[in-house]
Amino acid sequence: MRRVAQFLVLAAIAAAGCGQKPTAASDFAAQRQRMVTEQLKARGISDERVLNAMNKVPREEFVPPDSRAGSYEDGPLPIGYGQTISQPYIVAFMTEQLRLKPSDRVLEIGTGSGYQAAILAELMSQVYSIEIVEPLAKNAEATLQRLGYENVHVKIGDGYKGWPEAAPFDAIIVTCAPDRVPQPLVDQLKDGGRMVIPVGDRIAQELYLLEKKNGQLKQSATLPVRFVPMAREASEHK
Ligand code: SAH
Repeated sequence: MRRVAQFLVLAAIAAAGCGQKPTAASDFAAQRQRMVTEQLKARGISDERVLNAMNKVPREEFVPPDSRAGSYEDGPLPIGYGQTISQPYIVAFMTEQLRLKPSDRVLEIGTGSGYQAAILAELMSQVYSIEIVEPLAKNAEATLQRLGYENVHVKIGDGYKGWPEAAPFDAIIVTCAPDRVPQPLVDQLKDGGRMVIPVGDRIAQELYLLEKKNGQLKQSATLPVRFVPMAREASEHK
């Protein structure tokens, strides 16, 4: 069964490469549903709200046109500027870890394509997202607007510093990897809040769940991962 699915995906990519008919929206919807079953539920994602959001947001709208046919493959995809849209499973896993409530306000570092921000926007009231590469930020903002996500605020800048004017946040999700947890993000997390963040070097990183309780941080490592490194503004380079 899985082999057949893989073959169909490869066939779709080949067709796209030959300039044939683009994949229809209904085909994408079927691929999306299969992604939720085979890549998410099968690996233990069980939060119904997260699964519904993953089943709703059209990932194909967030990838460049020439990779669109592979939108529901089980991996990251390039989005230009040396950056990627994350693997669907990682997006779902990190979102589930945040245990979001509809009234929560969340900060994302690393807008990239805007896909993760759209998933968050399905689940909660206000999403603040920071991207350091200006054209990516603008492109993500345009995509989110086109799809009607009015509760996502995108800012161009260095996410290491967080977004003090919009703080504090109930949850913070970091989708690029610093070598240590940025103190400004810890400071901008509400008491009782949760942060999901990959920490490490270019080669080996661990995803951490940090929970702030009575001013103390409780930390647990959850998954080995590989994200693009967190870049710093030129003036910040050591
Ligand atoms: N969440 C994204 C994927 C992120 S890829 C999505 O759903 O598509 C990581 C992103 O982090 C890249 O776009 C990269 O440019 C951005 N990034 C790297 N360092 C950053 C920093 N210091 N501040 C903000 N964004 C940063």
